[in-house]
Amino acid sequence: MMTSKQYEDSLRKMNLNVYFMGEKIDNPVDHPMIRPSMNSVAMTYKLAEEPEYQELMTATSNLTGKKINRFCHLHQGTDDLVKKVKMQRLLGQKTAACFQRCVGMDAFNAIFSTTYEMDQALGTEYHKRFTDYMKFVQDNDLVIDGAMTDPKGDRGLAPSQQEDPDLYVHIVEVREDGIVVSGAKAHQTGAVNSHEHLIMPTIAMREADADYAVSFAIPSDAEGITMIYGRQSCDTRKMEPGADIDLGNSQFGGHEALVVFDRVFIPHERVFMCKEYDYAGMMVERFAGYHRQSYGGCKVGVGDVLIGAAALAADYNGVPKASHIKDKLIEMIHLNETLFACGIACSAEGSQMPAGNYMINLLLANVCKQNVTRLPYEIARLAEDIAGGIMVTMPSEQDLKNEEVGPLVRKYLVGAKGKDVVNRMRVLRLIENITLGTAAVGYRTESMHGAGSPQAQRIMIARQGDLESKKEFARNIAKIDTSLDK
Ligand code: SF4
Ligand code: FE
Repeated sequence: MMTSKQYEDSLRKMNLNVYFMGEKIDNPVDHPMIRPSMNSVAMTYKLAEEPEYQELMTATSNLTGKKINRFCHLHQGTDDLVKKVKMQRLLGQKTAACFQRCVGMDAFNAIFSTTYEMDQALGTEYHKRFTDYMKFVQDNDLVIDGAMTDPKGDRGLAPSQQEDPDLYVHIVEVREDGIVVSGAKAHQTGAVNSHEHLIMPTIAMREADADYAVSFAIPSDAEGITMIYGRQSCDTRKMEPGADIDLGNSQFGGHEALVVFDRVFIPHERVFMCKEYDYAGMMVERFAGYHRQSYGGCKVGVGDVLIGAAALAADYNGVPKASHIKDKLIEMIHLNETLFACGIACSAEGSQMPAGNYMINLLLANVCKQNVTRLPYEIARLAEDIAGGIMVTMPSEQDLKNEEVGPLVRKYLVGAKGKDVVNRMRVLRLIENITLGTAAVGYRTESMHGAGSPQAQRIMIARQGDLESKKEFARNIAKIDTSLDK
């Protein structure tokens, strides 16, 4: 396994083609805007080095028998699925941000089981290829960007009906030694901090879309790949010299990027689906299911930090004993633990796939994510309520340091007796960061749209909800004689 330092060094060796705010970035690792997101991923290595977190952060590979980072693991039981969620909560607590490495883990498990079933039915050799790829990933302890979401263009049209064929990643050429692909994947979590991209289709496909039914792995710095780094609210604060208090969270962050593929060559041994359109939907459903489970861990961990920050804000404001404040904090805990309960439940109710690895309970994972599209918003609302308006009207760190107005800032931002003014500013900025700043991408909007927008879960809930058997329960209890119905 790599140490966090080795991970950082391994990124330095990559020759990535990254653009941010109209400029090509030569050294993403040390860029002040990107660095905090790298620190979050590095935490997945750092915690795996610490004895107290071995149980959650590491696992034994079913492929090699070696000890590996859990982020590279194929789940071997419901116990592994539960530990995955607990690991994600832990990392959320330590970073208060998206630590990005889960998309790879979720893609591994979805592609492993899907390729097995493809090979069984079609006589292909994708599963063997993918198993070899997994050994490579595990042995080198890599960060893989599991990539699903295409830009999608006109949402009312299928991939093959789009005016521009590149709006979905597609095969442009099949060669003797591999395939050539073009297109893009949108809002790719951790793309710039990843060693490789692992591409999956974004929706179920029909025959006409066969060229779009493609899955493959490719190093992030391969020829033809361009990454355009996404903006976040308040992101340029990170560029301010000496910025610290105003960042709210100066150490950690997350990021997304638009990843463009311009005639990128993929050798056959890294291709895991090539036009088998019947299996695109299966891969999508499984990846989405795993990632909906993931949110019952990571968002809960960030929620823990936000609840803690709200409680601290109450302390610094001098109102920790007010009954309505206590009640709001209880409500926040209740909502946050509801999400965790969903993450644990869909894990505990998991089952073994024909390939051998374990799948979460799909219905419960979709219920989990549906709750995630709502409850963090309420938790954020309550945190803002407790923090007070000063959270968004407070003078800057520079003003605090200014000789003229600094003493005024200190004088008028005083809160509870005996409490430090700067500490009060820090905790308010942390709440701002999670609810409205750079981390709000991960805690709010991603809660809505990440791992699929709310409607995608409702479709799955409708499919998995088994309404017919519920009707049968009701018929039996009410003694309904269906022969009397016309
Ligand atoms: Fe992991 Fe959560 Fe980020 Fe997804 S949103 S990569 S589950 S931390
Ligand atoms: Fe996500």
